[in-house]
Amino acid sequence: MKIAFISDVHGNLEAFAAVCASIKDEHVDRVVFLGDIVGYGANPNECIELLRTITEHCVAGNHDWAAAGRQSTETFNPAARDAIEWTSAQLTAENKALLMSLPLSLEINQLLCVHATPFMPQKWRYVFNECDAELIFETFMQRICFVAHTHCPAIFIEHEDTTVMREISSQVTLHPRCRYIINCGSVGQPRDGDNRASYGVFDASCSQYYLVRVDYDLASAQKKILRAGLSDFLAHRISVGR
Ligand code: ZN
Repeated sequence: MKIAFISDVHGNLEAFAAVCASIKDEHVDRVVFLGDIVGYGANPNECIELLRTITEHCVAGNHDWAAAGRQSTETFNPAARDAIEWTSAQLTAENKALLMSLPLSLEINQLLCVHATPFMPQKWRYVFNECDAELIFETFMQRICFVAHTHCPAIFIEHEDTTVMREISSQVTLHPRCRYIINCGSVGQPRDGDNRASYGVFDASCSQYYLVRVDYDLASAQKKILRAGLSDFLAHRISVGR
């Protein structure tokens, strides 16, 4: 079973379409979406519609629930809050209902999948470093948990009593005696300094995980953000990848 993990599309249709084309070349058996299909970008409805054509295995992100009105935007920064208000006004009733219905976590082939953290996912906490990961490992039973939310690809490895964070260089072979928290990065707004879209592929048959980076038409996505009247900061951010 080969699974593609995608996340944090954030209404960026150019990035999402490029990632969907790339996933086709990977010949995966399944796609899992780890949340935040909307917020920040200019094509929320189109991204939801494209998502529906590639998978039904989806969890909610904080932006999804906020745009659907299922949670408040109190903790959002001003640019994010404005983008949620704009997004919410654009969404069709059907798409809003779909976002509203997304669960906070799911388990597929013994892989735990959440947007933020497995314990109290509705608090939308981040796993940024080894200290965060060490605490999180205590809160779930499965060997492997896929997360998103930080927009930074990462892999955290628990082996006996130590937790380490590793850069995902090329391919990583997962060891049967270790546990893992894996972040597949962001399709529509990467923040690790690389502006290309990011997603992950896990091949259960050989226990291998790798990250894929995809170039896309960034200039078009930026133009649409500005034309929609969303913040310049959001248009600038996707080009710097921070
Ligand atoms: Zn996000």
